[in-house]
Amino acid sequence: MIAAVSAAGAERSVILVVNAGSSSLKFQVFDLAGGELQCVIRGLIEGIGTRPQIRAWRGDGSELTADGFTLSQASSVAMLGHITQIGQLAQRDTQAVAFNALWDWLVTRLQGARLIGVGHRVVHGGSLHSRPVRIDAPVLAQLEGLAALAPLHQPHNLAPIRSLLTLRPDLPQVACFDTAFHRTQPIEAELFALPMHFYDEGVRRYGFHGLSYEYVGRRIAELAPQAGAGRVIVAHLGNGASMCALLGGRSIATTMGFTALDGLPMGTRSGNLDPGVLLHLMRERGMSLDQIETLLYHQSGLLGLSGLSADMRVLQASGEPSARLAIDHFTYRVAREAGSLAAALGGLDALVFTAGIGEHSAPVRAAVCDRLRWLGVEIEAQANSESRLRLSPEGAAVSTWVIPTDEERMIAEHTCTTLGLS
Ligand code: ADP
Repeated sequence: MIAAVSAAGAERSVILVVNAGSSSLKFQVFDLAGGELQCVIRGLIEGIGTRPQIRAWRGDGSELTADGFTLSQASSVAMLGHITQIGQLAQRDTQAVAFNALWDWLVTRLQGARLIGVGHRVVHGGSLHSRPVRIDAPVLAQLEGLAALAPLHQPHNLAPIRSLLTLRPDLPQVACFDTAFHRTQPIEAELFALPMHFYDEGVRRYGFHGLSYEYVGRRIAELAPQAGAGRVIVAHLGNGASMCALLGGRSIATTMGFTALDGLPMGTRSGNLDPGVLLHLMRERGMSLDQIETLLYHQSGLLGLSGLSADMRVLQASGEPSARLAIDHFTYRVAREAGSLAAALGGLDALVFTAGIGEHSAPVRAAVCDRLRWLGVEIEAQANSESRLRLSPEGAAVSTWVIPTDEERMIAEHTCTTLGLS
Protein backbone atom coordinates (compact mmCIF):
# COMPACT_ATOMS: atom_id res chain seq x y z
CA MET A 1 0.00 0.00 0.00
CA ILE A 2 1.31 3.43 -0.87
CA ALA A 3 1.37 5.78 2.04
CA ALA A 4 -0.23 9.17 1.37
CA VAL A 5 2.65 10.98 3.00
CA SER A 6 5.84 9.98 1.25
CA ALA A 7 8.84 8.79 3.21
CA ALA A 8 11.28 10.31 0.77
CA GLY A 9 14.13 12.22 2.38
CA ALA A 10 14.03 13.19 6.02
CA GLU A 11 11.13 12.18 8.19
CA ARG A 12 8.40 14.76 7.84
CA SER A 13 6.41 16.24 10.68
CA VAL A 14 2.65 16.32 10.42
CA ILE A 15 -0.25 17.35 12.57
CA LEU A 16 -3.75 15.94 12.54
CA VAL A 17 -6.87 18.09 12.81
CA VAL A 18 -10.10 16.46 13.97
CA ASN A 19 -13.56 17.99 13.73
CA ALA A 20 -15.97 15.47 15.21
CA GLY A 21 -19.69 16.22 14.83
CA SER A 22 -22.82 14.25 15.63
CA SER A 23 -22.93 12.06 12.55
CA SER A 24 -19.75 12.96 10.72
CA LEU A 25 -16.07 13.27 11.51
CA LYS A 26 -13.91 15.54 9.36
CA PHE A 27 -10.15 15.33 9.47
CA GLN A 28 -7.10 16.86 7.81
CA VAL A 29 -3.41 16.11 7.99
CA PHE A 30 -1.05 19.05 7.58
CA ASP A 31 2.62 18.82 6.70
CA LEU A 32 4.79 21.38 8.43
CA ALA A 33 7.41 21.45 5.68
CA GLY A 34 9.31 24.74 5.46
CA GLY A 35 7.26 26.39 8.19
CA GLU A 36 4.19 26.38 5.89
CA LEU A 37 1.13 24.32 6.73
CA GLN A 38 0.33 22.19 3.73
CA CYS A 39 -2.73 19.93 3.69
CA VAL A 40 -1.64 16.43 2.58
CA ILE A 41 -4.76 14.43 3.45
CA ARG A 42 -8.31 15.54 4.08
CA GLY A 43 -11.39 13.49 4.49
CA LEU A 44 -14.52 12.68 6.36
CA ILE A 45 -16.42 9.77 7.80
CA GLU A 46 -20.13 10.10 7.26
CA GLY A 47 -23.08 8.08 8.51
CA ILE A 48 -21.59 7.46 11.94
CA GLY A 49 -24.01 5.35 13.96
CA THR A 50 -25.84 4.16 10.84
CA ARG A 51 -23.73 3.33 7.77
CA PRO A 52 -20.22 4.65 8.33
CA GLN A 53 -18.22 5.43 5.22
CA ILE A 54 -14.91 7.16 4.75
CA ARG A 55 -13.93 9.45 1.90
CA ALA A 56 -10.49 11.00 1.71
CA TRP A 57 -8.29 12.93 -0.68
CA ARG A 58 -4.63 13.78 -1.00
CA GLY A 59 -3.47 17.38 -1.01
CA ASP A 60 -3.51 17.38 -4.82
CA GLY A 61 -7.21 16.43 -4.81
CA SER A 62 -6.77 12.81 -5.91
CA GLU A 63 -8.94 10.37 -4.00
CA LEU A 64 -7.51 7.91 -1.48
CA THR A 65 -8.95 4.43 -1.27
CA ALA A 66 -10.90 3.30 1.76
CA ASP A 67 -8.74 0.14 1.94
CA GLY A 68 -8.12 -0.85 5.51
CA PHE A 69 -10.95 1.24 6.89
CA THR A 70 -12.94 -1.33 8.79
CA LEU A 71 -15.90 0.30 10.36
CA SER A 72 -18.83 -1.49 8.86
CA GLN A 73 -22.28 -0.88 10.20
CA ALA A 74 -22.10 -4.36 11.70
CA SER A 75 -18.80 -3.80 13.50
CA SER A 76 -20.01 -0.42 14.72
CA VAL A 77 -23.13 -1.98 16.15
CA ALA A 78 -21.19 -4.95 17.55
CA MET A 79 -18.74 -2.66 19.31
CA LEU A 80 -21.55 -0.55 20.61
CA GLY A 81 -23.16 -3.67 21.99
CA HIS A 82 -19.92 -4.41 23.79
CA ILE A 83 -19.74 -0.89 25.18
CA THR A 84 -23.34 -1.13 26.31
CA GLN A 85 -22.49 -4.22 28.27
CA ILE A 86 -19.56 -2.69 30.07
CA GLY A 87 -21.01 0.72 30.65
CA GLN A 88 -23.65 3.19 29.72
CA LEU A 89 -24.17 3.71 26.03
CA ALA A 90 -23.60 7.36 25.32
CA GLN A 91 -23.69 9.37 22.09
CA ARG A 92 -19.96 9.81 22.29
CA ASP A 93 -19.33 6.07 21.99
CA THR A 94 -20.26 6.05 18.31
CA GLN A 95 -17.73 8.81 17.75
CA ALA A 96 -15.06 6.92 19.69
CA VAL A 97 -15.63 3.81 17.58
CA ALA A 98 -15.40 5.85 14.40
CA PHE A 99 -12.29 7.66 15.55
CA ASN A 100 -10.52 4.42 16.48
CA ALA A 101 -11.24 3.06 13.00
CA LEU A 102 -9.94 6.28 11.46
CA TRP A 103 -6.83 6.07 13.61
CA ASP A 104 -6.00 2.55 12.39
CA TRP A 105 -6.56 3.67 8.82
CA LEU A 106 -4.48 6.82 9.18
CA VAL A 107 -1.52 5.17 10.87
CA THR A 108 -0.90 3.19 7.68
CA ARG A 109 -1.15 6.27 5.53
CA LEU A 110 1.17 8.28 7.72
CA GLN A 111 4.06 5.86 7.37
CA GLY A 112 7.23 7.85 6.92
CA ALA A 113 5.85 10.86 8.74
CA ARG A 114 6.03 11.79 12.39
CA LEU A 115 2.75 12.86 13.94
CA ILE A 116 3.70 15.57 16.40
CA GLY A 117 0.35 16.89 17.52
CA VAL A 118 -3.41 16.72 17.15
CA GLY A 119 -5.76 19.70 17.13
CA HIS A 120 -9.45 19.28 17.90
CA ARG A 121 -12.42 21.47 17.29
CA VAL A 122 -14.26 21.80 20.59
CA VAL A 123 -17.42 23.79 20.44
CA HIS A 124 -17.55 25.09 24.01
CA GLY A 125 -14.69 26.50 26.05
CA GLY A 126 -16.94 28.24 28.58
CA SER A 127 -15.81 31.49 30.14
CA LEU A 128 -12.38 30.15 31.10
CA HIS A 129 -10.86 29.67 27.66
CA SER A 130 -10.15 32.67 25.50
CA ARG A 131 -7.52 30.79 23.53
CA PRO A 132 -6.69 27.19 22.57
CA VAL A 133 -5.38 24.95 25.32
CA ARG A 134 -3.19 21.88 25.53
CA ILE A 135 -5.22 18.97 26.82
CA ASP A 136 -4.51 16.84 29.84
CA ALA A 137 -6.86 14.83 32.05
CA PRO A 138 -7.97 17.81 34.24
CA VAL A 139 -8.64 20.01 31.17
CA LEU A 140 -10.65 17.19 29.59
CA ALA A 141 -12.69 16.77 32.77
CA GLN A 142 -13.36 20.51 32.83
CA LEU A 143 -14.51 20.46 29.18
CA GLU A 144 -16.75 17.48 29.87
CA GLY A 145 -18.41 19.63 32.52
CA LEU A 146 -19.52 22.00 29.75
CA ALA A 147 -21.37 19.28 27.80
CA ALA A 148 -24.76 20.44 29.09
CA LEU A 149 -24.18 23.80 27.35
CA ALA A 150 -23.66 22.13 23.96
CA PRO A 151 -25.31 18.72 24.19
CA LEU A 152 -25.34 18.19 20.41
CA HIS A 153 -21.66 18.93 19.93
CA GLN A 154 -19.44 18.76 23.01
CA PRO A 155 -19.67 15.00 23.75
CA HIS A 156 -18.82 14.23 20.10
CA ASN A 157 -15.95 16.71 20.06
CA LEU A 158 -14.41 15.21 23.18
CA ALA A 159 -14.73 11.51 22.27
CA PRO A 160 -11.64 11.41 19.98
CA ILE A 161 -9.62 13.29 22.60
CA ARG A 162 -10.44 10.66 25.20
CA SER A 163 -9.63 7.86 22.75
CA LEU A 164 -6.24 9.36 21.94
CA LEU A 165 -5.36 9.89 25.59
CA THR A 166 -5.63 6.10 25.87
CA LEU A 167 -4.14 5.14 22.50
CA ARG A 168 -1.26 7.62 22.50
CA PRO A 169 -0.91 9.34 25.90
CA ASP A 170 2.42 10.78 24.74
CA LEU A 171 0.89 12.64 21.79
CA PRO A 172 0.23 16.35 22.48
CA GLN A 173 -3.38 17.35 21.88
CA VAL A 174 -4.86 20.84 21.64
CA ALA A 175 -8.49 21.93 22.00
CA CYS A 176 -9.52 24.87 19.81
CA PHE A 177 -12.81 26.44 20.84
CA ASP A 178 -15.65 27.93 18.83
CA THR A 179 -16.39 30.23 21.75
CA ALA A 180 -12.86 31.58 22.36
CA PHE A 181 -12.87 34.21 19.61
CA HIS A 182 -15.90 35.93 21.15
CA ARG A 183 -14.29 36.50 24.53
CA THR A 184 -13.49 40.02 23.29
CA GLN A 185 -17.18 40.96 23.39
CA PRO A 186 -17.95 43.80 25.79
CA ILE A 187 -20.00 42.81 28.80
CA GLU A 188 -23.16 44.52 27.54
CA ALA A 189 -23.08 42.20 24.51
CA GLU A 190 -22.56 39.14 26.70
CA LEU A 191 -25.37 39.90 29.12
CA PHE A 192 -28.85 38.45 29.22
CA ALA A 193 -31.21 40.67 31.19
CA LEU A 194 -31.60 38.18 34.01
CA PRO A 195 -30.61 38.72 37.64
CA MET A 196 -26.87 39.36 37.59
CA HIS A 197 -25.92 36.26 39.54
CA PHE A 198 -26.82 34.15 36.50
CA TYR A 199 -24.11 35.91 34.48
CA ASP A 200 -21.62 35.25 37.26
CA GLU A 201 -22.65 31.58 37.19
CA GLY A 202 -21.91 31.40 33.46
CA VAL A 203 -25.30 32.08 31.89
CA ARG A 204 -24.14 34.52 29.23
CA ARG A 205 -23.77 34.95 25.47
CA TYR A 206 -20.74 32.90 24.48
CA GLY A 207 -21.14 32.83 20.70
CA PHE A 208 -19.92 30.10 18.34
CA HIS A 209 -18.29 29.57 14.91
CA GLY A 210 -15.34 31.53 16.31
CA LEU A 211 -12.72 29.58 14.35
CA SER A 212 -14.51 30.47 11.15
CA TYR A 213 -14.77 34.15 12.10
CA GLU A 214 -11.13 34.29 13.05
CA TYR A 215 -10.08 32.83 9.70
CA VAL A 216 -12.44 34.99 7.63
CA GLY A 217 -11.54 38.10 9.64
CA ARG A 218 -7.91 37.54 8.83
CA ARG A 219 -8.63 36.99 5.14
CA ILE A 220 -10.70 40.16 4.82
CA ALA A 221 -7.86 42.09 6.49
CA GLU A 222 -5.54 40.75 3.76
CA LEU A 223 -7.97 41.41 0.91
CA ALA A 224 -9.27 44.80 2.04
CA PRO A 225 -6.98 46.14 4.77
CA GLN A 226 -8.97 49.32 5.36
CA ALA A 227 -12.31 47.55 5.73
CA GLY A 228 -10.65 44.74 7.70
CA ALA A 229 -9.42 47.27 10.21
CA GLY A 230 -12.91 48.74 10.43
CA ARG A 231 -16.47 47.48 10.79
CA VAL A 232 -17.20 44.07 9.27
CA ILE A 233 -20.15 41.70 9.46
CA VAL A 234 -19.46 38.06 8.66
CA ALA A 235 -22.44 35.82 7.86
CA HIS A 236 -21.52 32.18 8.46
CA LEU A 237 -24.49 30.55 6.75
CA GLY A 238 -24.18 26.79 6.86
CA ASN A 239 -26.32 24.06 8.29
CA GLY A 240 -25.53 25.81 11.56
CA ALA A 241 -25.73 29.55 10.94
CA SER A 242 -24.64 32.63 12.82
CA MET A 243 -23.30 36.13 12.24
CA CYS A 244 -20.57 38.16 13.86
CA ALA A 245 -19.70 41.85 14.12
CA LEU A 246 -15.94 42.38 13.88
CA LEU A 247 -14.42 45.69 14.87
CA GLY A 248 -10.76 45.88 13.91
CA GLY A 249 -10.74 42.10 13.54
CA ARG A 250 -12.17 41.42 17.02
CA SER A 251 -15.60 40.04 17.81
CA ILE A 252 -17.82 42.61 19.52
CA ALA A 253 -21.22 40.95 18.99
CA THR A 254 -22.62 37.74 17.59
CA THR A 255 -26.01 36.13 17.05
CA MET A 256 -25.52 32.80 18.80
CA GLY A 257 -25.71 32.92 22.56
CA PHE A 258 -25.48 30.65 25.56
CA THR A 259 -25.96 27.72 23.23
CA ALA A 260 -25.77 27.27 19.47
CA LEU A 261 -29.58 27.52 19.30
CA ASP A 262 -29.84 31.30 19.35
CA GLY A 263 -29.88 33.80 16.52
CA LEU A 264 -30.65 32.81 12.94
CA PRO A 265 -32.97 29.97 11.95
CA MET A 266 -30.79 27.07 10.77
CA GLY A 267 -31.16 23.75 8.98
CA THR A 268 -33.13 22.18 11.82
CA ARG A 269 -32.61 24.62 14.72
CA SER A 270 -35.12 27.33 15.54
CA GLY A 271 -32.75 30.19 16.28
CA ASN A 272 -34.03 33.13 18.29
CA LEU A 273 -37.39 32.44 19.91
CA ASP A 274 -39.61 34.30 22.35
CA PRO A 275 -38.92 32.49 25.65
CA GLY A 276 -42.66 32.76 26.30
CA VAL A 277 -43.16 30.14 23.58
CA LEU A 278 -41.27 27.63 25.71
CA LEU A 279 -43.41 28.42 28.75
CA HIS A 280 -46.50 27.95 26.61
CA LEU A 281 -45.32 24.62 25.22
CA MET A 282 -44.58 23.33 28.70
CA ARG A 283 -47.68 24.65 30.44
CA GLU A 284 -50.36 24.36 27.78
CA ARG A 285 -49.04 21.46 25.70
CA GLY A 286 -47.40 19.53 28.51
CA MET A 287 -44.24 19.08 26.46
CA SER A 288 -41.31 17.55 28.29
CA LEU A 289 -37.80 18.92 28.32
CA ASP A 290 -36.64 16.19 25.92
CA GLN A 291 -39.51 16.90 23.53
CA ILE A 292 -38.72 20.60 23.52
CA GLU A 293 -35.03 19.92 22.97
CA THR A 294 -35.85 17.68 20.00
CA LEU A 295 -38.22 20.31 18.62
CA LEU A 296 -35.71 23.16 18.88
CA TYR A 297 -32.63 21.31 17.69
CA HIS A 298 -33.98 18.80 15.17
CA GLN A 299 -37.44 19.74 13.89
CA SER A 300 -37.36 23.49 13.45
CA GLY A 301 -35.52 25.98 11.22
CA LEU A 302 -35.68 25.46 7.45
CA LEU A 303 -36.93 21.90 7.91
CA GLY A 304 -39.72 22.89 10.28
CA LEU A 305 -40.86 25.86 8.21
CA SER A 306 -40.80 24.09 4.86
CA GLY A 307 -41.90 20.66 6.03
CA LEU A 308 -39.60 19.44 3.25
CA SER A 309 -35.90 19.64 3.97
CA ALA A 310 -33.13 21.29 5.98
CA ASP A 311 -31.02 21.49 2.85
CA MET A 312 -31.01 24.88 1.12
CA ARG A 313 -30.33 23.23 -2.25
CA VAL A 314 -33.50 21.18 -1.98
CA LEU A 315 -35.55 24.21 -0.96
CA GLN A 316 -34.19 26.30 -3.82
CA ALA A 317 -35.04 23.58 -6.31
CA SER A 318 -38.53 23.06 -4.91
CA GLY A 319 -41.55 24.84 -6.33
CA GLU A 320 -43.48 24.47 -3.07
CA PRO A 321 -44.74 27.70 -1.45
CA SER A 322 -43.53 26.42 1.95
CA ALA A 323 -39.97 26.17 0.59
CA ARG A 324 -40.20 29.75 -0.70
CA LEU A 325 -41.51 30.92 2.68
CA ALA A 326 -38.68 29.17 4.54
CA ILE A 327 -36.06 30.85 2.33
CA ASP A 328 -37.77 34.24 2.62
CA HIS A 329 -37.87 33.97 6.39
CA PHE A 330 -34.20 32.96 6.43
CA THR A 331 -33.04 35.93 4.33
CA TYR A 332 -35.31 38.26 6.33
CA ARG A 333 -33.72 37.09 9.57
CA VAL A 334 -30.18 37.39 8.19
CA ALA A 335 -30.92 40.97 7.10
CA ARG A 336 -32.50 41.86 10.44
CA GLU A 337 -29.52 40.50 12.36
CA ALA A 338 -27.22 42.43 10.03
CA GLY A 339 -29.07 45.61 10.99
CA SER A 340 -28.63 44.78 14.66
CA LEU A 341 -24.92 44.01 14.26
CA ALA A 342 -24.40 47.19 12.21
CA ALA A 343 -25.91 49.11 15.12
CA ALA A 344 -23.43 47.43 17.49
CA LEU A 345 -20.61 48.42 15.11
CA GLY A 346 -21.85 51.98 14.52
CA GLY A 347 -21.95 51.44 10.75
CA LEU A 348 -20.62 49.01 8.20
CA ASP A 349 -17.56 48.84 5.94
CA ALA A 350 -17.70 45.26 4.68
CA LEU A 351 -20.11 42.33 4.55
CA VAL A 352 -18.75 38.81 4.10
CA PHE A 353 -20.61 35.60 3.26
CA THR A 354 -19.14 32.24 4.17
CA ALA A 355 -19.98 28.52 4.83
CA GLY A 356 -22.16 26.24 2.66
CA ILE A 357 -25.06 28.59 1.92
CA GLY A 358 -23.01 31.78 2.14
CA GLU A 359 -20.38 30.49 -0.27
CA HIS A 360 -22.67 28.80 -2.77
CA SER A 361 -26.18 30.22 -2.74
CA ALA A 362 -26.38 33.21 -5.08
CA PRO A 363 -30.17 33.59 -4.53
CA VAL A 364 -29.77 33.81 -0.74
CA ARG A 365 -26.96 36.36 -1.04
CA ALA A 366 -28.95 38.40 -3.54
CA ALA A 367 -32.02 38.48 -1.30
CA VAL A 368 -30.01 39.43 1.79
CA CYS A 369 -28.10 42.16 -0.04
CA ASP A 370 -31.29 43.52 -1.53
CA ARG A 371 -32.75 43.86 1.96
CA LEU A 372 -29.58 45.69 3.05
CA ARG A 373 -29.44 48.33 0.32
CA TRP A 374 -30.41 50.98 2.88
CA LEU A 375 -27.11 50.21 4.64
CA GLY A 376 -25.06 50.87 1.49
CA VAL A 377 -24.81 47.24 0.39
CA GLU A 378 -24.83 46.80 -3.39
CA ILE A 379 -23.62 43.86 -5.46
CA GLU A 380 -23.10 43.02 -9.11
CA ALA A 381 -25.47 40.31 -10.32
CA GLN A 382 -22.85 38.62 -12.49
CA ALA A 383 -20.25 38.54 -9.71
CA ASN A 384 -22.88 37.08 -7.39
CA SER A 385 -24.07 34.38 -9.78
CA GLU A 386 -20.43 33.33 -10.28
CA SER A 387 -19.74 33.42 -6.51
CA ARG A 388 -16.73 35.65 -7.12
CA LEU A 389 -14.57 36.76 -4.24
CA ARG A 390 -15.78 40.35 -4.43
CA LEU A 391 -19.45 41.01 -5.18
CA SER A 392 -19.64 44.78 -4.84
CA PRO A 393 -18.67 47.28 -7.56
CA GLU A 394 -15.71 49.63 -7.08
CA GLY A 395 -16.67 52.55 -4.92
CA ALA A 396 -19.58 50.83 -3.13
CA ALA A 397 -20.10 52.24 0.36
CA VAL A 398 -19.96 48.70 1.76
CA SER A 399 -17.72 46.14 0.07
CA THR A 400 -19.30 42.68 -0.11
CA TRP A 401 -17.35 39.44 -0.30
CA VAL A 402 -17.58 35.67 -0.54
CA ILE A 403 -14.74 34.13 1.44
CA PRO A 404 -14.58 30.33 1.82
CA THR A 405 -13.99 29.49 5.45
CA ASP A 406 -11.26 27.10 6.60
CA GLU A 407 -11.77 26.15 10.21
CA GLU A 408 -9.39 23.19 9.90
CA ARG A 409 -6.48 25.39 8.86
CA MET A 410 -7.21 27.71 11.76
CA ILE A 411 -7.12 24.72 14.13
CA ALA A 412 -3.84 23.56 12.58
CA GLU A 413 -2.30 26.99 13.11
CA HIS A 414 -3.52 27.20 16.70
CA THR A 415 -2.21 23.72 17.39
CA CYS A 416 1.24 24.66 16.12
CA THR A 417 1.28 27.89 18.12
CA THR A 418 0.03 26.26 21.31
CA LEU A 419 2.64 23.48 21.04
CA GLY A 420 5.41 25.96 20.25
CA LEU A 421 5.91 24.55 16.75
CA SER A 422 5.76 27.91 14.97
P1 ADP B 1 -22.16 22.66 8.37
O1 ADP B 1 -20.65 22.73 8.26
O2 ADP B 1 -22.77 23.62 9.34
O3 ADP B 1 -22.73 21.28 8.48
P2 ADP B 1 -22.10 23.68 5.64
O4 ADP B 1 -21.28 24.90 5.85
O5 ADP B 1 -21.47 22.53 4.90
O6 ADP B 1 -22.76 23.16 6.97
O7 ADP B 1 -23.41 24.13 4.84
C1 ADP B 1 -24.44 23.24 4.56
C2 ADP B 1 -25.56 24.02 3.87
O8 ADP B 1 -25.05 24.62 2.69
C3 ADP B 1 -26.75 23.17 3.47
O9 ADP B 1 -27.96 23.83 3.77
C4 ADP B 1 -26.60 23.09 1.95
O10 ADP B 1 -27.82 22.96 1.31
C5 ADP B 1 -26.00 24.44 1.66
N1 ADP B 1 -25.39 24.47 0.33
C6 ADP B 1 -24.28 23.82 -0.11
N2 ADP B 1 -24.08 24.06 -1.42
C7 ADP B 1 -25.11 24.86 -1.83
C8 ADP B 1 -25.49 25.45 -3.07
N3 ADP B 1 -24.79 25.26 -4.18
N4 ADP B 1 -26.59 26.22 -3.10
C9 ADP B 1 -27.34 26.42 -1.98
N5 ADP B 1 -27.03 25.90 -0.80
C10 ADP B 1 -25.94 25.13 -0.71
